[in-house]
Amino acid sequence: MKPILEVNRLSKTFGGLVAVKSLDLNVMEGEILGLIGPNGSGKTTSFNLISGFLKPDCGKVRFSGRDITGLKPYRICQAGIARTFQLTRPFAGMTALQNVVIGRMYGGDPIRNMRRAEEECLNLLQFVGLGRRAHSPVLNFGVVDRKRLEVARALATRPKLLLLDEMMSGLNPTEMEEAIRLVRAIAETGITLMVVEHVMKAIIDLSARLVVLNYGEKIAEGEPREVLTHRAVVEAYLGE
Ligand code: ADP
Ligand code: MG
Repeated sequence: MKPILEVNRLSKTFGGLVAVKSLDLNVMEGEILGLIGPNGSGKTTSFNLISGFLKPDCGKVRFSGRDITGLKPYRICQAGIARTFQLTRPFAGMTALQNVVIGRMYGGDPIRNMRRAEEECLNLLQFVGLGRRAHSPVLNFGVVDRKRLEVARALATRPKLLLLDEMMSGLNPTEMEEAIRLVRAIAETGITLMVVEHVMKAIIDLSARLVVLNYGEKIAEGEPREVLTHRAVVEAYLGE
């Protein structure tokens, strides 16, 4: 296995606060890597740095061997990295389908034929479990369907690497099982995943490998059940 994403000494400071501190990590092609850590440990900031929504103070991000550090979000998206947002922000006045079609016309390999774009996006909505709500205005969607839509929108950009930010928070156990199945199904299509999740059960079920952050620093990395027994990890979560 070779790395699809290489993050080297990546750092970001907000005022006096070091949100991400000299972070080193690789995501291997085809894997589901779990990124965990207490609240405020720098998970979302790491996603923002990788996907171009924030510029790093220093450090490098390489994707498929290419330096993408500091590129604009749409360029990184076109290169093949998509991400979801912890707080979803769909175009609320539009239908689910319209939201996903926008993604399909924007990312890597954008499509110009509206009919074909709609067809593909209907399939994507089906894939995430929103087939029957394709033509509903997003305005009426609850948290579960908004999260599904967020995933469909990201998938529509045809990513090779998908960054999922707390997709499972606010879901009941049944919805969570569905979400876990969805993530597995995405992985089976050949997309590499980096998953930020607070729900430990989900992360253990999904990932063969975890990276743990605390105060912006990587404090552990490895097989989930083993990593979660590390003293530094236990203390980080107890301190939360
Ligand atoms: P996580 O996703 O792990 O909960 P974040 O990456 O959102 O953590 O935040 C890491 C730290 O950076 C927190 O202390 C947070 O308050 C701070 N932070 C995040 N984004 C900003 C920002 N845009 N401006 C100032 N501080 C921020
Ligand atoms: Mg976060």
